[in-house]
Amino acid sequence: MPPSEKPFVIPVFLPHAGCPHQCVFCNQKAITQSSIQAPTTAQIETSIRSYLRYLTPRRKPVQIAFFGGNFLGIDHREILRLLNVATTFVHEGIVDGIRFSTRPDTLTKDRLEILRKFPVSTIEIGAQSMNDAVLTLCRRGHAACDTVGAAFLAKAAGYEVGIQMMVGLPGEDDDGAISTGRQIAGLGPDFVRIYPTVVLEHSPLANWYRNGQYTPLSISAGVSLVKRLYLMFQDRNIAVIRMGLQASTELENGSILLAGPFHPAFGHLVIAEIYRDRVVELLKASGSALKSVTLRVNPKRISTMRGLKNENISYLKNKFSIRHIDVTGDPLLPDHHICLAEDSGGIALWRNDQEGAENKKGIRVFT
Ligand code: SF4
Repeated sequence: MPPSEKPFVIPVFLPHAGCPHQCVFCNQKAITQSSIQAPTTAQIETSIRSYLRYLTPRRKPVQIAFFGGNFLGIDHREILRLLNVATTFVHEGIVDGIRFSTRPDTLTKDRLEILRKFPVSTIEIGAQSMNDAVLTLCRRGHAACDTVGAAFLAKAAGYEVGIQMMVGLPGEDDDGAISTGRQIAGLGPDFVRIYPTVVLEHSPLANWYRNGQYTPLSISAGVSLVKRLYLMFQDRNIAVIRMGLQASTELENGSILLAGPFHPAFGHLVIAEIYRDRVVELLKASGSALKSVTLRVNPKRISTMRGLKNENISYLKNKFSIRHIDVTGDPLLPDHHICLAEDSGGIALWRNDQEGAENKKGIRVFT
């Protein structure tokens, strides 16, 4: 499925189902706000049907997703029960496929064999890090080579493969996270998710945080690091489908979140910082002190260009001593294109980051 065909995902949360133990950073019960008890068949069906009510007439591909645990680590008969419930919806023609997340060390040939008769389309592998020392410290119970083997097996079996990684893990610095990202990219996943490590109540990491053994990333450090990873994956044409934990009331009201780089719009912060960086490059390239400028972007990217609470505008004004910056929407500009013009009309800069620079008469081009 091409990245543009983002599916409508119906989640079925199975907190810690199939997990051999609790990894230091994890508390799925808190994140998913679901009971640790396996949902009954009737509960799953009711939940799926309630999500289906939100399907828009312009129907996207629909997938039922088993998240929150280690799917292939679940008891064989229970896997069959879950897949059978989901498959009924596929046979009814309402749903297109099934996806799930699983640990790399449980993705084996035998386990894949169980899936063969079911319409599973996508497998997400929880790699988290590709550094064995970090994996050990995080009590993951598997090594980086398990992720390599799992990705190979899943791809060879024809599944769409996603890989999840984390940043800010105990024992892993920024360079380590970038190295993890590069190794994951080298496995050729169809997409990745990047989760900054946060400190959740009732996780082993909570104790480490309280006794000073672990310090999480700040939000700004997390955003900058995830930005570097996002750009690296983008360069390799690997879709980043999620950056940051899914917002929830419990995460936002602080009842389960002790510390760490959680923000309900984390992905927006990352993309906004990329926009800011691009304008910084354009302003530096202009070589002259501009006093009043207009930034034109596609209308749906105005808030991205401005940044949260206009932070990009304040940053650029301060850094370049610009008196006035206006951001306007231009429906003719493709997504992720920024046009910068000095309001006095003296200079106009155009940058096309997606497809190379376009040379237009009278417009200076920077690549
Ligand atoms: S990180 Fe994954 S394998 Fe580890 S406890 Fe959480 S759900 Fe289970």
